[in-house]
Amino acid sequence: MNFSDVANQEQYPFSLPDLPYEKHKLEPYFTPESFDFHHGKHHKAYVDNLNKIIQDNTIMHEMNLEKIILKSFNSNQTIFNNAAQIWNHSFFWHSIKPNGGGLPTGRIFEQIQNDFNSFEEFSKEFKQAAVSQFGSGWVWLVFDMKKLRILKTSNANTPITNNLLPIICCDVWEHAYYIDYRNKRPDYAAVVIDKALNWEFANNNLERAESFYSD
Ligand code: FE
Repeated sequence: MNFSDVANQEQYPFSLPDLPYEKHKLEPYFTPESFDFHHGKHHKAYVDNLNKIIQDNTIMHEMNLEKIILKSFNSNQTIFNNAAQIWNHSFFWHSIKPNGGGLPTGRIFEQIQNDFNSFEEFSKEFKQAAVSQFGSGWVWLVFDMKKLRILKTSNANTPITNNLLPIICCDVWEHAYYIDYRNKRPDYAAVVIDKALNWEFANNNLERAESFYSD
């Protein structure tokens, strides 16, 4: 079982996945220009780099993206960085959506209330994690030992190397917010939480996580 069907890719050569929405649909919170750079240049560069770096690595041509991430972790930093960044970004595009954010519905809402006491508490903690991650990185909501928790990772690091299944994530690399929010990471984080998080995606991932860890 994959950690995520939308973020994993079956085989080399890897490709830049399409955004799951049209790039103008998140206006006024994110401009099409920000997607042109973040998706069209940054995410694409990770894909192009990985394909180039492993072009002669026939063993890796037999592996899916998640296997490459797990295999290169702690053994080949360059391969890991590019492979993990492809996965993380693919997961992130689905973590936000037009008309998203705010109060979740369904199972994830119940689980958040259980594990964080209230949605407000979760929201505060998630934002605080986004703001306090020093330098480049990611903030994740993960399902760990049947509980939700917030996790920060630096650079390309991803929860899947710790066998944790992400529920939702927020990119806090400067390239994620510099075009629309300049240096104001707190404003960007607030917009992601209040206006963009995709709770439907989170509900699907929670369901998947529950069956993932029940095996
Ligand atoms: Fe990014």
